[in-house]
Amino acid sequence: MILSETKIVAIKDSRGSQTLEAHITAHEGDSKEISVVASVPAGKSTGIHEVKSLSPALAFEQFEKIKRNIIGVNFHDQQEFDALLIALDGSLDKHVLGGNLILVLSEGFARAFAATRDLGLNQYLHQLLGSKHKIPDRFPRPLFNIINGGAHVTIPSDWDKKFGVSKSLDIQEFQVVPATDDFALGLSVGKEFYSKLGYELGKIYGAENVILGDEAGYVCPFKTNEEALEIIQELINRYLYPLKIGLDAAASQFHNDADDSYMIEGAERTPEELTMLYYDLAHAYELISLEDPFNEEAFDDFAGLQEKIPKTILITDDLTTTNPERLSKAISKKSANAILIKPNQIGTITETIDVISMAYENGWKTIVSHRSGETKDDFIADLAVGVGAWGLKSGAPATEYRMAKYSRALDLWQKINPSGPF
Ligand code: PEP
Ligand code: MG
Repeated sequence: MILSETKIVAIKDSRGSQTLEAHITAHEGDSKEISVVASVPAGKSTGIHEVKSLSPALAFEQFEKIKRNIIGVNFHDQQEFDALLIALDGSLDKHVLGGNLILVLSEGFARAFAATRDLGLNQYLHQLLGSKHKIPDRFPRPLFNIINGGAHVTIPSDWDKKFGVSKSLDIQEFQVVPATDDFALGLSVGKEFYSKLGYELGKIYGAENVILGDEAGYVCPFKTNEEALEIIQELINRYLYPLKIGLDAAASQFHNDADDSYMIEGAERTPEELTMLYYDLAHAYELISLEDPFNEEAFDDFAGLQEKIPKTILITDDLTTTNPERLSKAISKKSANAILIKPNQIGTITETIDVISMAYENGWKTIVSHRSGETKDDFIADLAVGVGAWGLKSGAPATEYRMAKYSRALDLWQKINPSGPF
């Protein structure tokens, strides 16, 4: 495939920050030209082992330098294109070209390559992985982040005086996960639960004290993590919703490197004490999944917890940063049994597929995830479906940034299950 034209522009993401969007025109042999667009997100609770991003201004400069290596050149496959970007960058953390510039080109290439072959993007990504590993025959479950905490929340300044609440909850994401394989049913249950929860929180805290965090989950003057968990559990029980509870602790955010302690629920805890807290939560709320329970270097603490709560899917995010070396270490240490996949943590689609392949090779599940600062690009929905991920994490079932991914997954579900009731 030959890229005849490629332009990079800056757009605003869901937080109003600038990010990159690629406009690519390409053709294969004598076939007619196709045009695609791709854009990339940005995290806030980022892991230190993620690749580095450049500001749009610097990314434009870098793109000008490499343009002639890309435009007008005939690329035979994704690997060849991505390998060129990796070589042109030449660094380990992609700080020269920027992981964001590399990914926007890699995703744009994938979308164009699929289109020139009349393949759906999910089918194309399926083929990329299929050449390496047998793909699980499953459709991803949505992980709806319905209450936001941690770095994804700004607490209103008057909540301290009004409620004695000056900081967000320690745990970053309180999720509900449908207990059904039917994606359409799961999405509609998730939407209904989200709307009921909003109403319920309004009754408890006053509608004016129910605001939204970065991922469209609710934020209220909660005093403790358990207070939020109790409200979710009670509502599930009251209406018998087929929903399970999941958490992303994003524990690096409340870890103290100096003495390896964690400040959570108003107390300083050792890794052992935190393990017991999670053990209690996992049993009290029958947690289906738990992400990043410890700091991003705590491979052994993850492993200790994994042994104690074998029924909960333990997910690594900041610990592994979609990076093959980090995943390999986590596998050998038996740190967890599932990895969060965020393409912008590593920078190219080829490397993302390689990490997924390594995860499957070792019996791990994958959960494909958005970032807290998102665009309306729905690439990750095709990735989750194409690679048979266990989950798709895209925030609350609300706002166009989060819904873009769930809606695309719903379209794909309906294509696969045309006789469904939805
Ligand atoms: C996460 O931690 O899983 C997440 C989506 O947040 P961020 O994008 O801020 O890293
Ligand atoms: Mg996370």
